[in-house]
Amino acid sequence: MGEEYDNLQVLSEINEKTISQFSLDDTYQTLVDIGCQELGIDYGALFLTDNGQLEVKAICGLNNEYFKLHYSLSNSILKKAKSEILIVDNLQQAKTKNKYSQDLFIAEGFKSLLAAPIFVDDELEGLLLFLHSDVNYFSQEDFLPVETITTQAPLVIKKAKIFQKMERNVAGLSILQRTSSTINSTLNLEEVFNLTVDVIMGTMGVSMSGLFLLDESKENLNLVASTGVPGGEAEEKLIAKTQELCWRVIENKEAAIEDEIPDEHNELDTFNMKSGMIIPLIIRGEVIGAVAAGQVGFKRNFTEADTRFVTTLANQIAIAIENARMYNQMEELATKDGLTKLYNHSHFQEILAKEIEKAKRYERDLSLLMMDIDNFKDFNDTYGHQVGDEVLKELARLLKKEARESDIVARYGGEEFAVILPETDLNGAVEMGKRLNKAIRNMVIKYEGLEIKITVSIGASSYHEGKSQKKLINDSDDALYQAKDHGKDQTCAKEFCALEQ
Ligand code: GH3
Ligand code: MG
Ligand code: MG
Repeated sequence: MGEEYDNLQVLSEINEKTISQFSLDDTYQTLVDIGCQELGIDYGALFLTDNGQLEVKAICGLNNEYFKLHYSLSNSILKKAKSEILIVDNLQQAKTKNKYSQDLFIAEGFKSLLAAPIFVDDELEGLLLFLHSDVNYFSQEDFLPVETITTQAPLVIKKAKIFQKMERNVAGLSILQRTSSTINSTLNLEEVFNLTVDVIMGTMGVSMSGLFLLDESKENLNLVASTGVPGGEAEEKLIAKTQELCWRVIENKEAAIEDEIPDEHNELDTFNMKSGMIIPLIIRGEVIGAVAAGQVGFKRNFTEADTRFVTTLANQIAIAIENARMYNQMEELATKDGLTKLYNHSHFQEILAKEIEKAKRYERDLSLLMMDIDNFKDFNDTYGHQVGDEVLKELARLLKKEARESDIVARYGGEEFAVILPETDLNGAVEMGKRLNKAIRNMVIKYEGLEIKITVSIGASSYHEGKSQKKLINDSDDALYQAKDHGKDQTCAKEFCALEQ
């Protein structure tokens, strides 16, 4: 080392190199590089000390094996550098005492060592280590450049830490902002659910995520969206276990965040899950469900910022779910009939208009069945309106069951129903009508000790180019009257009557 040493030169070098660097890792690397440069040597490293553990964060000239090292400071020759600069003149002598077998640099044959502590806010942050293959290489003269670095180090490390935190907050905020605006702009529940698990996985970088919601009774917890979950038999086991853990979180109304999954839940180890968190979804003090996230393969160190982020996100999600649920309820009220839960008259008209549009544009078949319960007036007179209502509900259930996924069943009026049959011609519609006649005829409704049977009359007609919506409905209605005229419990078409049942 040169006799004259320009302290200012090192200072300006550190500042110059770190001013444009914001990442912590780059900052650690710069400190080692400048140290080696100022001491005129080839080998150096920076260890962080966390709870007495040494962890290599940056190296100069050494091989990458050093990054894998984790060992205790108290078992290292470096422990003497905890409070002041340490110089060891002959490492190989130290080795013969066989005390510091964990120190890779001794095994590698280095002879001289200089190590200096870095303090940040009076706490030991780490150690700078410089190595040389000659004995007695370092001397008191090397103290000054090293001390210049170690006194400047806390400033640049703090700057990088603040920046990292700021960057994470900014990233977190912008994600939150984007998520909440997306979530708030969609009232489609399923979309909100899927977005939730995607955002948790995407922003936290976890391996899997699931969203569990309580049903109306608050007795069942259902998985409504998940991502990254392994399929097959394992999936069921994992979901069941997570459900159990979610129940606890829901009961406590408090997040559970585990860097290391406790032994009592070692079933999760089957999935190689190492860390996990479950956050309750709370709206106006009421828990509506929970989001779960799991890390497979390695242990996470969930920070306070992670927790805050997920909690804020969970609040946003809870609000979005509440909004979408309310919207769905309102939509249901507006489009569905309260008694039968089938589409109501006005929604039926809306859907029929759309189906006619589709049939016209794509030149596809479209038919409409109109149905009226036979002798229902008498029925009500005999059994009373309440039994009549029960019959309407049962009939609605049967119609939904018998209809195809693409068919649209609606309550047209009092005891009149309509079934829109896309991609079905008149023959198909009559077949469907006859099938319904049979199913309804054979249905036995058990209610308060009664065994009730009903029949219906059905009218069918089909759409063709140029036919108006009104005409289509009228044609089905006319056919329905024909069915009544011909003795009820049958299906008629506008053009012909299908008497044979
Ligand atoms: P038809 O075979 O000719 O259809 O004879 P009907 O007695 O069914 O005659 P109509 O269709 O004109 O009768 C409608 C009856 O349906 C009137 C009413 O008592 C009953 N009804 C209509 N809406 C409801 C309802 O919401 N609940 C109950 N319980 N009955 C209803
Ligand atoms: Mg009627
Ligand atoms: Mg009737």
